[in-house]
Amino acid sequence: TQGTQDTQDTVKQRLLEKDRKHLWHHMSVHSDDPMIFVSGEGCWLTDIDGNRYFDAMSGLWCVNIGHGRKEMAAAAAKQMELLAYVPLSHSHVPAIELASKISGWLGGEYRIFFSNSGSDANEVAFKIARQYYDQIGQPNRYKFISRHRAYHGNSMGALGATGQAQRKFKYEPLGTGFQHVPPPYCYRCPFGKSTDSCRMECAGIYDQVIQWEGPETVAGLIVEPVITGGGMIVPPPGYLKKVKEICDKHGVLLIVDEVICGFGRSGEKFGHCNYGVGPDIVTMAKGLTSAYAPLSATAVRADLYDSFRERSGTDHFRHVNTFGGNPLSCAVALKNMEILEDEKLIQASGELGRRLSERLLGLSAHRTVGDIRTFGFAAGIELVEDKETKRPASAENVAKVIESCKQRGLLIGKNGDTVPGYANVLTLAPPFVTTPEEVDWMASTLEIALNTLP
Ligand code: PLP
Repeated sequence: TQGTQDTQDTVKQRLLEKDRKHLWHHMSVHSDDPMIFVSGEGCWLTDIDGNRYFDAMSGLWCVNIGHGRKEMAAAAAKQMELLAYVPLSHSHVPAIELASKISGWLGGEYRIFFSNSGSDANEVAFKIARQYYDQIGQPNRYKFISRHRAYHGNSMGALGATGQAQRKFKYEPLGTGFQHVPPPYCYRCPFGKSTDSCRMECAGIYDQVIQWEGPETVAGLIVEPVITGGGMIVPPPGYLKKVKEICDKHGVLLIVDEVICGFGRSGEKFGHCNYGVGPDIVTMAKGLTSAYAPLSATAVRADLYDSFRERSGTDHFRHVNTFGGNPLSCAVALKNMEILEDEKLIQASGELGRRLSERLLGLSAHRTVGDIRTFGFAAGIELVEDKETKRPASAENVAKVIESCKQRGLLIGKNGDTVPGYANVLTLAPPFVTTPEEVDWMASTLEIALNTLP
């Protein structure tokens, strides 16, 4: 009725006023009114006006099992009633079970340290790597090598590892000891190579840089299996294996950031499984709980942990965070992993990903589509103004496509700065409960949106 509609409009206006006045949004300039969401079910979100949107980015690449899971809420409530908190200097049942389960999923002997966010998990990895080398008698190994275009988090160390200038500007100087090498970005190869002339210089460069820096000063390399947030940059086959060989040659630890690629996004349990590489340290967050609760983990090869055992003084890992591994988050993560297993959602992610790749291929002839890159159930569509010169699409045109999708009920993401100043890569990373028909709909909606460009 009109009366109810008026009341709803008033409620919305009040919320918007408070929002404008008090809420500091992430990564946003406070120009437009935000969308206010009130509920979610499966892949679909409902806003305060009752409009439904398909969440094709799973929030921020994280709601892997989909929204509105009653079993997750029940697991959280049950744990809260039973035991809300003890610090992890003691132990509790969900943390023990979860550490053991993650280690099992990694298929090897790993020791698990819990924290709150992906950034935390990477900070912990860096500190453990430095301390490990110190304790095995190689105290000069403090440097880490990352890649340009990589994102590893927002805290001073994790942002130091990040290779995106636009995120660091005005916050520097950051954590020290981080070097960056060019990304394995075949579409705009930083080494000027084509598929035929490629000798995987993007992997070989690590060998050179480690030698130039002095291998005795390098503690670790950090890589995502594919660079996701930096523009969906998928390496050539064999890249990660070669990187691991170079690490082993120089005694450098391989830290794999699975914050996005893990927990089924790649179509396997973890992204490194797609490449048959065993990391020394694995960091994870997001899909670990499908974002139903904050939790992250740093998994460390068990034999590295041995150097932290049975020692006194400063030789144990002197790092604590209050909420890391809290019972609620661990119970939620366990339920999330159970759902992924019971509903065979990792397999589903792989199958949906293959379908999405096929459907997106249909867009490759479009005049604005320069490159399409997929990995598991995630995709990046790089938009250009000109296919010959690869001149990136303008911010205005990228915004038009995103808005046009939104008008049709499809929320997609945007990434990039693969060419500095241009965020011209559209991204998709939908929940694993997407139906095949919804995959087809996403592709056709994107095509309609692309056709609206001049
Ligand atoms: N690592 C990667 C690959 C990420 O994409 C992100 C966040 O997007 C992070 C680390 C940081 O995670 P968080 O935002 O939970 O700190």
